[in-house]
Amino acid sequence: MGQRRIAIAGYGNLGRGVAAAVGQNADMTLHAVFTRRDPSTIDPPTPQTPVLPWDELLDHRDEVDVLVLCGGSKDDLPQQGPELAAHFTTVDSFDTHARIPEYVAAVDAAARAGGNTSIVAVGWDPGMFSLNRLLGEALLPEGGTYTFWGPGLSQGHSDALRRVPGVAAGVQYTVPSPAAIDAVRSGSRPELTTREKHTRECYVVLEDGADAAEVERAVVTMPHYFADYDTTVTVISAEELAREHADMPHGGFVIRSGTTGGGHDQVVEYRLQLGSNPEFTASVLVAYARAAARLNERGETGALTVLDVAPSLLSPKPVDQLRAELL
Ligand code: NDP
Repeated sequence: MGQRRIAIAGYGNLGRGVAAAVGQNADMTLHAVFTRRDPSTIDPPTPQTPVLPWDELLDHRDEVDVLVLCGGSKDDLPQQGPELAAHFTTVDSFDTHARIPEYVAAVDAAARAGGNTSIVAVGWDPGMFSLNRLLGEALLPEGGTYTFWGPGLSQGHSDALRRVPGVAAGVQYTVPSPAAIDAVRSGSRPELTTREKHTRECYVVLEDGADAAEVERAVVTMPHYFADYDTTVTVISAEELAREHADMPHGGFVIRSGTTGGGHDQVVEYRLQLGSNPEFTASVLVAYARAAARLNERGETGALTVLDVAPSLLSPKPVDQLRAELL
């Protein structure tokens, strides 16, 4: 098997992370980056990698094994996901949790029609956290699952924040409640509301003439993103944003607290502590790109999620070697 050819559609934080992650995988090569912006304004990830205009994507259909979609979940992927799944085997990190079923259906129809394979909603949440929620429920059927995020910068929520009219730039931090975490780790299985588990802190730079009160109202009432949380909006300068909010750390944990048949309590925790959210998410996308290529080679078409993909397909190692080394 030669190297699998990867292309990137959309070149923001995640796109740059995918380029870096492909460089760590010897069985992959980066074919090109595609962007809706003027390619001449964008630094290529390596001197050998061309940055090409979006409208040339389809000309590269036969030269790309997997297209990694790195657009934003709010406005880009709902359109790009189905459109591109008709022509390419794809992976993406769509993370609007409430809309995942309708997104899977739209991508599935397009991918099947095109004879392609798409693994959607890949990353850490949805993604690795989803897998761990599944394991918790399946292994400990009597119990409760708790997901905490942060403290950290949420790209999906920051993306949504930046699209509010009047917002020139901004970031959003998700902060878990220490008291709620302690209660869950103790095994007491508390009933926690969405609002009790986390708060959301937004820092925005306003466009000239924007009304701060109107921006705040639009943010805190935004469904799916902010309406169910205690959300604060703080207006800051562009200089402060650049100085204090440039890094993208994140993390969190999934805890399953259950009781087994003999009456013993069991608490299982999966934790992520990420120095860079987009770089980690990109690394997950690249491992699933390998799985998508393999599934497509086997003739399995349509849309799948991390819940449907066998873990051995993620590894570059042959399955016999994995069994010998890891079991
Ligand atoms: P960005 O805002 O950096 O990029 C999104 C798109 O915007 C890019 O594909 C790019 O498209 C365009 N863009 C990027 N920079 C600029 C710019 N300077 N000016 C104009 N357009 C620009 O988003 P991220 O890469 O940080 O995140 C993408 C998505 O990843 C998020 O919306 C989130 O939903 C998802 N995500 C999912 C996670 C998970 O665990 N499942 C975790 C983290 C993120 P183009 O090049 O075509 O212009």
